[in-house]
Amino acid sequence: MGDTMSSDTPHPVTRRQFASCTAAAAAGFLLTACGPRRLREVPKARLRSMLDDLEREYSKTYGKAVTVSDTPAADGVVFAYALDISRCIGCRRCVYACVDENNQSRDPQVHWIRVLSMDKERGIDFAHADAYYDAKEVPQDGHFYVPVACQQCRNPPCTKVCPVGATWAEKDGIVVIDYDWCIGCRCCMAACPYGARHFNWSDAGIPNEQVNPAMHYLGNRPRPRGVVEKCTFCIQRVRKGRYPACVEACPVGARKFGNLLDPESEIRYIIEHKRVLVLKEELNTMPKFFYFYGT
Ligand code: SF4
Ligand code: SF4
Repeated sequence: MGDTMSSDTPHPVTRRQFASCTAAAAAGFLLTACGPRRLREVPKARLRSMLDDLEREYSKTYGKAVTVSDTPAADGVVFAYALDISRCIGCRRCVYACVDENNQSRDPQVHWIRVLSMDKERGIDFAHADAYYDAKEVPQDGHFYVPVACQQCRNPPCTKVCPVGATWAEKDGIVVIDYDWCIGCRCCMAACPYGARHFNWSDAGIPNEQVNPAMHYLGNRPRPRGVVEKCTFCIQRVRKGRYPACVEACPVGARKFGNLLDPESEIRYIIEHKRVLVLKEELNTMPKFFYFYGT
């Protein structure tokens, strides 16, 4: 994708980035050999007490009762997303619903979803896409809109380069990050071809009254400065049978979500009956985020 994707859109890995990723790998080796345990290695009993500590800490910080769940992936579920390009009007309501739901920083702003405005004459062309159009004037004649967030790849390059194993794909297909384990080396950002990962340059600026207190350990709990974050399909919602916040917020029903393994699901219907496309198919990342033209 072109430079319009975002300021943290990845570029080809430079020698300097390579050197820093190599150094991070060495540091990671030492950490994993001598340091504390990753979430997936923590015994269940200890995990509950960790979550209790976090709930106490966040409740005190934000002045409200916060819950931090660790709802695991269910058997027989692989989540996928589909977006109807012919319906999207570029209003960015999904962007702000995502910010609210996922405790993204308001100051400085962090957006996990970016909506790109594209010229109908050019078709899908990321090199000429505009992420900074004025959303008050949409939809604009001659334009269409392509929202982009983490594509939850089945073959994710981001997880493979992490030197400390702080990011991985869960069995329901959601690619997650353990914020307590991430060392902020940003190798995953360089590896992601979709510009889907975002680095926290400072602590999240969220007014207390706007904090969403229903949190998941691997999802929307506040991220500290110096770690990477991204969309998790609203893990805190979807593992409890709810839709992602962006699906509910979209005023035109452009966003569809469901279980790929359920033959009766809407997502399966779309994949089987519509012409779907994935972004940058040639890279073999195998996204579970599909785009289609419903009309
Ligand atoms: S879109 Fe980027 S961050 Fe998301 S799974 Fe694929 S490579 Fe990883
Ligand atoms: S809320 Fe729906 S219509 Fe608006 S930008 Fe997002 S996907 Fe498009």
